[in-house]
Amino acid sequence: MRPPLTPRLAPFGTTIFTEMTELAVRHGAVNLGQGFPDFDGPEFVKEAALRAIRDGRNQYVRMFGLPELNRTVSAHRRRFYGLDYDPDGEVTVFSGATEALFATFQSLFDAGDEAILFEPFYDSYRPGLANAGARAVVVPLTPPGFTLDAEALARAVTPRTRAIVLNSPLNPVGKVFARAELEAVAEVCRRHDLLAITDEVYEHLVFEGQHVPLATLPGMRERTVMISSAGKTFSLTGWKVGYACAPEPLTRALRAAHQFVTFCTPGPFQLAVAAGLEADDEFFARFVSDYRARRDRLCAGLAAAGYRVLVPQGTYFAVADIRPLGCDDDLAFCRTLPEAKGVAAIPVSAFCEEPARVRHLVRFAFCKSDATLDAALARLAG
Ligand code: PMP
Ligand code: GLN
Repeated sequence: MRPPLTPRLAPFGTTIFTEMTELAVRHGAVNLGQGFPDFDGPEFVKEAALRAIRDGRNQYVRMFGLPELNRTVSAHRRRFYGLDYDPDGEVTVFSGATEALFATFQSLFDAGDEAILFEPFYDSYRPGLANAGARAVVVPLTPPGFTLDAEALARAVTPRTRAIVLNSPLNPVGKVFARAELEAVAEVCRRHDLLAITDEVYEHLVFEGQHVPLATLPGMRERTVMISSAGKTFSLTGWKVGYACAPEPLTRALRAAHQFVTFCTPGPFQLAVAAGLEADDEFFARFVSDYRARRDRLCAGLAAAGYRVLVPQGTYFAVADIRPLGCDDDLAFCRTLPEAKGVAAIPVSAFCEEPARVRHLVRFAFCKSDATLDAALARLAG
């Protein structure tokens, strides 16, 4: 019999997050693998969802987003970045950044097109591109700094290149692209008339300086699909409310895919995220300062346990070099850690086509309460 799974998806197996969370559950390990907070999101956001459910806002909603959320996303982009997006014509709500990325790949790529990815890259990009028949062309960022090599980027462009995908702050390594690097990316996009697809789900988790969207650089707004989601910013990763801002022609394309993937995203959660995005400046400042403290707690503990830590500039992940512990195989290390030490983590090589460069690196999530972080660190130190 023909194998059930299409060869387009066969190479991608089961996600590393599923694998490591299963191991954590099986061994009762503290899960610093899959990135989800072990504390709840803000009361006022949860209340808004409950209110909407009680008020009967429970049927299908407008395909491209409830007007309340489209307006609020647009206002948020103006407030933080000075970017103007028309709420009805240029903002689309999706079921998470994952769906936004998938719909973007489905709608903008033809078979044989190429997208440039910076490695390490988030796990859903390659299968998303493969489903659209597109090819990923990988430009490596080299540890420990993961600095962009502008010449390598220029060499990766071919006549088939359609877009550059940029994730900043970067999961898994916590790098925030410097302005000079963003300018290099923008320059290549303008010179070759490429699209940019930006994954900015960690936009509110930049520990030093400010988040700079690629769309704010000259000539970039008109060619960029700017994607983000509410999961990280409101510590409600299970809600899966994402959004994309893009000029009208691109937005029309994204919606052509979205209407046949999920059609629309649950209304009560959209209304609640709208309430969240309207939070005052103190909410966002407090959010990042709480996370800075969690980052410092985890990094100090890992260093004390003998790891060489690469302190992240953003995201809620820290990457540690395991060679001082006498290990150099991140996957084998992460597969044994839950049983051996009672802690789960993620191998950085899972985000790479060419794992050799990062085999010594393991990702730990610090979106956890102090008690959870301390429990994990005590186990790692033992
Ligand atoms: N992009 C990156 C870089 C992520 O880390 C994640 C998940 N944490 C996503 C996209 C997916 O976001 P969502 O849960 O909103 O689909
Ligand atoms: N984005 C999350 C992480 O990097 C995982 C999301 C998922 O499990 N697909 O940990």
